[in-house]
Amino acid sequence: MNRWTREIKIVSFWLIMAIVASLFIGHLTLLLLLLAVVLLIQQSLLINKLERNLSVGYLTDNKQAKGIWEEIYLHLYKIRKRQKQSKKKLSKMLERFHRSTDALPDAAVVLGKHDEIEWSNKAARQILGLRKKDRGQRIINLLRTPVFIQYLLSRDYKDPITIPSPLTDEALLQIKIVPYGAGQRLLLANDITHLRKLEQMRKDFAVNVSHELRTPLTVLKGYLETLKEQPAPSPFYARCFDKMALQTERMQSLIDDLLLLTRLETREKHQDCVDIPKLLRQICHEGQIIGKNAQRIQLNIRCTDNLLGDEQELRSAFSNLLVNALKYSPADKPVIVTWSRRDKYLCLSVEDQGEGIAGADIPRITERFYRVDRNRSKKIQGTGLGLSIVKHVLVRHDAQLKIESQLGKGSHFYCLFPLSHRC
Ligand code: ADP
Repeated sequence: MNRWTREIKIVSFWLIMAIVASLFIGHLTLLLLLLAVVLLIQQSLLINKLERNLSVGYLTDNKQAKGIWEEIYLHLYKIRKRQKQSKKKLSKMLERFHRSTDALPDAAVVLGKHDEIEWSNKAARQILGLRKKDRGQRIINLLRTPVFIQYLLSRDYKDPITIPSPLTDEALLQIKIVPYGAGQRLLLANDITHLRKLEQMRKDFAVNVSHELRTPLTVLKGYLETLKEQPAPSPFYARCFDKMALQTERMQSLIDDLLLLTRLETREKHQDCVDIPKLLRQICHEGQIIGKNAQRIQLNIRCTDNLLGDEQELRSAFSNLLVNALKYSPADKPVIVTWSRRDKYLCLSVEDQGEGIAGADIPRITERFYRVDRNRSKKIQGTGLGLSIVKHVLVRHDAQLKIESQLGKGSHFYCLFPLSHRC
């Protein structure tokens, strides 16, 4: 039977009993009032019992009351049981999360809206020197490096930063902030001292090898030039000397490009106001000598703006683009060099009507030693380092390289400098 029906039946029974009793003794209203008071007291006692049980958390699946109250007790017991189960699950998950974040080799710190530390893992203690009791403190009170404070307050977290470790002068840390949720941020820090050392070793190795190769190469070149000046014993020897001279020339270019690349990676940035129209006129003049056809290069100076930068570096980047356009397009096709303003940029563009570059190769041609189609490239002299140099120079000038090309139609290289670098 439905509990509510049972409950109604009990009340109805006592109601009928009161009416029957009133037939014998009269006072129906009094009897009904008495019945209502008894029922009210009974319900109040049951509510009181429930309140006491709830306050001490005593809810079992044993019968703690009768009728509809038994049902209420059962529902409450089930709700409590479900709550207990999900709490247990949650605390297990939390424990697993803590264990896994503590196993992370990188420091992780959750920052609140006001840059306060909300949570940090074990590595944050070892790498950043944070303590458990620092929770709630603003991170800039603990990590005081100006570069870090500027990064945190800038709210521009696109690129990571490198700062010295707050614990030891010898270590370097890479810091990256990832925003998430409502105003929260996750700070990740890792120790890159070892990586930096390896990187430095690689750079030193490239510089040392290049320098060491220079001397024997100069000696070889000297002897070759002397031999070429003498009458060759046979046409075969003459061909051999020519080939040897070509290869030593190539090796010389490789060494020069490698040294230039390492200089770009290691040298301090150095900025002057560079007269770009003048620089381009010089480069195009030199290009006309290389390109043999004096009419081939068309120079368009569409704006007179100059650039803040390093003249030597810009010269080598622009020359590389021009030399490539001359190398990879037929001698009777024009090469157009333009200096202009384009939206928010100052733009140097070099356009040719040469063989073009396949779409799949475009993202790779700025990699070191990458040459499209080695068979084709073998016929055209090159080191595969030219565009890598261009890219490095542009990065050092906060500029971008954009390449548009179609096979068989030609290529268009754009160097886009932010207008803020105008002078
Ligand atoms: P390389 O010394 O081989 O010219 P770069 O780094 O300057 O080295 O260029 C990489 C490759 O990109 C070249 O080998 C060539 O295949 C391709 N490339 C560069 N510029 C052009 C261009 N203007 N037209 C067609 N291909 C080009």
